[in-house]
Amino acid sequence: MSVIKKWRMNLLDILFPHLCLGCHSYLENRLAALCQNCRDKISISSAFCCSNCGRRLPTTGGNIKKCSCEHSFIVGLAINYESQPARELIKGLKYSGITAAANELAEFLADFIKNSGLNLKNFYILPIPLSKKRMRERGFNQSELIARNFAKFLGIPSVAIISNAMLRVKHTRQQTKMPDYKERLENVAKCFSVIKEEEIKGRQFIIIDDVFTSGATSAEAVKTLKLAGARKIIVLCAAKA
Ligand SMILES: [Zn+2]
Ligand SMILES: [Zn+2]
Repeated sequence: MSVIKKWRMNLLDILFPHLCLGCHSYLENRLAALCQNCRDKISISSAFCCSNCGRRLPTTGGNIKKCSCEHSFIVGLAINYESQPARELIKGLKYSGITAAANELAEFLADFIKNSGLNLKNFYILPIPLSKKRMRERGFNQSELIARNFAKFLGIPSVAIISNAMLRVKHTRQQTKMPDYKERLENVAKCFSVIKEEEIKGRQFIIIDDVFTSGATSAEAVKTLKLAGARKIIVLCAAKA
């Protein structure tokens, strides 16, 4: 590193020190969002489950399911909101635009996949799209950031990321204040639209989202992709609220 570059980095560090989102200790690595201590407080899951009843489900064997829930899908939730550093990660990413949090969450997702033993070779990756309005407000799509980092961690080529075949055509209200699942489903009904069917038809997908609350958004995305001819879909969310 040149002297000027080093000097500039030091100045940047003094003006804007890069801090752990969990405990506010100083972080040397600007790509990290948590210190090792906070990261260790978060446990990573390894099992896929039914989106409806939460029962563990196998990912092999086509669409054979081991529970009888209707309209459910297979979902993998890497971490949950229980620990404070996990909550700070999501908040930092969604509301403060701290993109290092996407890198951290993507690593948790990659570890989840490694733990689960699922082979992603024949899957395409589809981040949940944002509406134009939300994109303007936030400036980036957090699910896409997570998906791109996730692919990098697992050595998946970027051509396997399908990010503009399905759009979010309806701007929906934030669901956090809607306690009723039916209301949430109505809120997201027909909010997605496939504009490039040739990129969906006959393919297997891993949908990537940041937070899984009731699953209404994921359910709508699964439905839309299936109608466009997607073969098998697994939803992967960084965190369970
Ligand atoms: Zn920390
Ligand atoms: Zn079930």
